Amino acid sequence: LIQLYMPLNFLGVLYREIKQSLTDLDKVFGLLEREREVADAPGAPELAVRQGVLRFEDVHFAYDANRPILHGVSFEIPAGQTVAVVGASGAGKSTLARLLYRFYDVSGGRITIDGQDIRQVTQGSLRRAIGIVPQDTVLFNDTVGYNIAYGRPGAGRDAVEAAARAAHIHDFIAATPKGYDTVVGERGLKLSGGEKQRVAIARTLLKNPPILIFDEATSALDSANERAIQAELKSAAQGKTALVIAHRLSTVVDAHNIVVLDGGRVVESGSHTELLAYGGKYAEMWRLQQAGDQA
Ligand code: ATP
Repeated sequence: LIQLYMPLNFLGVLYREIKQSLTDLDKVFGLLEREREVADAPGAPELAVRQGVLRFEDVHFAYDANRPILHGVSFEIPAGQTVAVVGASGAGKSTLARLLYRFYDVSGGRITIDGQDIRQVTQGSLRRAIGIVPQDTVLFNDTVGYNIAYGRPGAGRDAVEAAARAAHIHDFIAATPKGYDTVVGERGLKLSGGEKQRVAIARTLLKNPPILIFDEATSALDSANERAIQAELKSAAQGKTALVIAHRLSTVVDAHNIVVLDGGRVVESGSHTELLAYGGKYAEMWRLQQAGDQA
């Protein structure tokens, strides 16, 4: 009996571990309640990133068939550039990030990376090529070192520390009693929103993917923290193709291009200066935000 028990016990442990890590992953992306609905096409090849040109081509999407969210969104992010998407709450900005990471498949049109439809390549290769700094980073109940190294399994302590330094979280970690071995998350040391986002940036820096998604936190950080995170993000995005989902306009001023989304449609696009001169929706949003900041 023991011969049967041991492997079964092992399988049980393995099952729990896999289930736990899937749960953590789901939590990271806030999708706990959803079943996976995308699958690899049979015999799908790996994504081959050459320059890193990203295109949304006439993308349509609905979470529920009777309530379309995106109505033909098209824009390009040239290799190595940063494009910011702005628009009112509910315009569909974060949905673009979810589609790019293939949590859902588009219902019309396509998303391509260097000409390859992301539905035609393996999800594993797609997700290896993309680094996400999500809105609300959920950390694993594990050490802060583990949480950063998660970006590149097998990364050594030196690499983890270098990424933490670049994300300006090293000094904070070093000041905790157990340093990189300090357990964080729900059952450990609680980090502030800004600290968690820095851990996520460090994780992404370590992963060093050619494509970056930054979904800005909806909950505002204090302005010093916000400026610091923006600076770290800017250096992280250097030379990468980056999609920034901006919930505040201060983040987007330096983007190569700004796409204004309204009701699931692109209504304007251009640089900050161009859009201000155009005097449309963006200029109006900017004016309101400036007035709000001064109030
Ligand atoms: P915000 O700036 O407030 O984050 P957003 O522009 O990023 O807004 P999305 O999160 O993309 O907006 O949401 C677009 C629309 O899709 C909203 O009306 C939202 O209610 C709806 N939506 C988002 N996620 C889901 C979901 N999982 N199931 C059904 N509807 C959803």
